[in-house]
Amino acid sequence: MKAVVDPDLLASLEKFGVADGAACFNCGTCTAVCSLSSEAAAFPRKLVRYAQLGLREKIMQSPEPWLCYYCGDCSETCPRRANPGEVMMGLRRYLTSRYDWTGISRLFYTSKAFEVLSVLVVAALVGAGFYAFHGPVVTERVALNVLAPNTVVERLDLALLAVLSLLLLSNAYRLFQAVMGNPSPEQRPDSGGRQPSLLHGIPLRVYLQEAKELAFQFLTQSRFAACGTKSQRTQWYVHLLVMSGYSIVFLLVVVGLRWFQTDKLYPLWHPVRLLGYYATFAILYGTTYAILGRLRKSRAAYAHSHASDWTFLILLWLTAFTGIAVHAARLLAMPLATYLLYVIHLMIAVPMLLIEVPFAKWTHQLYRPLVLYLVKVKGNARQS
Ligand code: SF4
Ligand code: SF4
Repeated sequence: MKAVVDPDLLASLEKFGVADGAACFNCGTCTAVCSLSSEAAAFPRKLVRYAQLGLREKIMQSPEPWLCYYCGDCSETCPRRANPGEVMMGLRRYLTSRYDWTGISRLFYTSKAFEVLSVLVVAALVGAGFYAFHGPVVTERVALNVLAPNTVVERLDLALLAVLSLLLLSNAYRLFQAVMGNPSPEQRPDSGGRQPSLLHGIPLRVYLQEAKELAFQFLTQSRFAACGTKSQRTQWYVHLLVMSGYSIVFLLVVVGLRWFQTDKLYPLWHPVRLLGYYATFAILYGTTYAILGRLRKSRAAYAHSHASDWTFLILLWLTAFTGIAVHAARLLAMPLATYLLYVIHLMIAVPMLLIEVPFAKWTHQLYRPLVLYLVKVKGNARQS
């Protein structure tokens, strides 16, 4: 099969954060030091080479960018300072934009103006919608559920969830098609005999057998702990902490809003209040850790921040912070301050979800375990 060469690929990857790939002289040191690279899936040298040669489709079909958790060991040891870890990160951004059929992801990653504008526009729409449709404003006491009845907010949450799932899963399906490729002639069913159900030339039962791998990797991202020769565990713990935080917020807001957004104040030991405190602490701690790391450039993975990294961290941090502010205003029995902070909180949280989940940084949460799963499925199919 002929490989299509895109001579401008390396230049166009620059906007996705691939800055120094051209300096690579293909020595292979990076692959030798990478603790996650294996014989079956060797990286990052191969991917840097693909980028240099303009092999766009090869990059599209490669699972390797998603197998890297960016410990930065390869960048620290590269004799040419080609920054292979950042090349892998940039390729993940590039691939995210290629999987996205709407084109929003590409605009978001390649244009700072679009990035800022999209957040501002969604925030303005949320603010305007709230202004136009809010309920009565009670000023004698805090009555958030009168201003924004939780039955209405619940329906809006579900609508948002449906839109996000549709976008994210349709993009994930494009990833699936790219990574699985076309079945080879020997994988295609022949005309005789009873054939098993096939998906991309692989029996469905193989996909089902490995489904637990997908769930396990999605929930734990356990390969993160094995990334890097230095202490990467802290990084993994922080990642788990943030993940547990926003998973709890998700459950509280989508499934348990009627208990979470009430006008009665729960006692301190109440499970809903404790879960809310834990989730806020987890998100604030994790995002502050990452923001400080990026400001100090404390490790190779934090040395080069793309604009989208900052947008994600700042939006997530502000979402947690304004959530605390709403709660504090409620505790202090300040109705107008509570309402105002609540609207500001939504004006930050909704753009963060709407943009980050299907189009930007959050996607790796699904794409990484999905690719690990597909690699395992392919490996098992090959063996059997
Ligand atoms: S990125 Fe650096 S370490 Fe890796 S192959 Fe190129 S020059 Fe060698
Ligand atoms: S950043 Fe770490 S995991 Fe990623 S390619 Fe480099 S050494 Fe491997």
